Amino acid sequence: MDVQQAYTRLLEHLGEIDDLQRAAAVLSWDRQTNMPPRGSATRSRQAATLGRIAHERFTSEETGRLLAAVEEWAAGLPYDSDEASLVRVTKRRYALQSSLSPKLVETLSIAGAQGFDAWLEARATRSFRPFRDAFARLVELRKEEADALAEACGAACRYDALLQRHEPGMTVAQLDRLFGRLKEVLVPLVRRIAERQELVSDAILHQRYDESRQWELTLEALRLIGFDFTSGRQDRSVHPFTTGFGPGDTRLTTRIFADHLGGGLFASLHEGGHGLYDQGVPARFARTPLYGGTSGGVHESQSRLWENVVGRSREFWSFFLPKARALFPEQLRGVTVEVMYRAVNRSTPSLIRVDADEVTYNLHIMVRYELERDLLDGDLPVDDLPEAWNRKMEAYLGVTPPDDLHGLLQDIHWSRGGFAGFPGYTLGNVISLQLYERACQDRPDIPESIRRGDTSPLLEWMRTHVHAHGAKFTPEELLQRATGRGLDPEPYLNYITRKFSELYEL
Ligand code: ZN
Repeated sequence: MDVQQAYTRLLEHLGEIDDLQRAAAVLSWDRQTNMPPRGSATRSRQAATLGRIAHERFTSEETGRLLAAVEEWAAGLPYDSDEASLVRVTKRRYALQSSLSPKLVETLSIAGAQGFDAWLEARATRSFRPFRDAFARLVELRKEEADALAEACGAACRYDALLQRHEPGMTVAQLDRLFGRLKEVLVPLVRRIAERQELVSDAILHQRYDESRQWELTLEALRLIGFDFTSGRQDRSVHPFTTGFGPGDTRLTTRIFADHLGGGLFASLHEGGHGLYDQGVPARFARTPLYGGTSGGVHESQSRLWENVVGRSREFWSFFLPKARALFPEQLRGVTVEVMYRAVNRSTPSLIRVDADEVTYNLHIMVRYELERDLLDGDLPVDDLPEAWNRKMEAYLGVTPPDDLHGLLQDIHWSRGGFAGFPGYTLGNVISLQLYERACQDRPDIPESIRRGDTSPLLEWMRTHVHAHGAKFTPEELLQRATGRGLDPEPYLNYITRKFSELYEL
């Protein structure tokens, strides 16, 4: 077999694996949007079968053999060529996934399911205790998994190893620096905002808003930001999410609250940002590991960009308020752009991450990141976790949970021992501003065009500098190419400080 034949065979092999994974994604989307409750058991079996076959094929000797056959040829091609990138990215994933024994994968999956059940029980009692043993077991298994991964990818610590699946190339050393800098600025800022709560009201958002009209409003917002409905659709689900089945089929979901205008609208803008990324990845990457985003954090930068940087700006509301008022003339009578701008930017220290605003959000992530790191690589015993959680919440946000339900039991992530995924949310916030700042330097007309309801200059910039690359690069490589420097929290900190000092007259 010559190199070209091997490469063609590799593409076919990866294409079939991708087909299996996308089919599983359709099943998962359907489960969360349409499936009747009694379909659950059958669906779980089907999803597990597809997942297992895809995993077996990807970690098979065939993959290793084909990669070996093209490796030398690909290394001689330009770094950013499609072929070299495909081989590089596939090799990295293959090394990670095939480093885990099928036994460990299976044990983890069972422990995860047990963890989830114990987590539900613990939530019902609002206490960590019923979850304690299952969680301790998950921590031990994740350590074992991380040790295996670390050997495969040469990571310096367990957290680094787990992080590679979410943020390729990123390290604890980098995250420690990032969170250290965020802490310096955000902790005192949150304190000062907390003392001046009366200055900003979001009361206008908390009225009765007809659900079908809210649905119309979310579609209007998605059209405004450029989401292509001939290649995607929006549905409702309990937890909003985005998934894609390949070129021409991107699925978003949102949720609507009858007594709150912001919930549905901002969920749609957020998922719409993920959806724009999905729709912007070139179709030529379809059925390969390059068809996707750079990393969880870079994906989140696109959702946060449209949700927060655009959706909570004066420019956006200058254009969008008349649209909202046309649907809700009574609720929004006499409401000015300024009143709306203030309402959608209210900041308050709270206990629950998913309800957190732009300023406090990263502090919620910092709590989780530091605890995960200390559980995996440090000396934090599982039994000290509830107290450690509460201490950090008090130190960073100035609030203490009344029980574990409002504390460490709030996120589903830990129920299955899902570690190292949380930093992606903060990376998303930070990267969204680093990209936006650079986009505005290249295209100074971006804010004004948003004010006129034209978001295409911003979208075009993101298409060229982010979406067009699919999963070719690591987050650091992408940032270097797009902005000329590596991860930098200063654009985000400048933006937050400027915006909220003005709102809260600090
Ligand atoms: Zn997201």
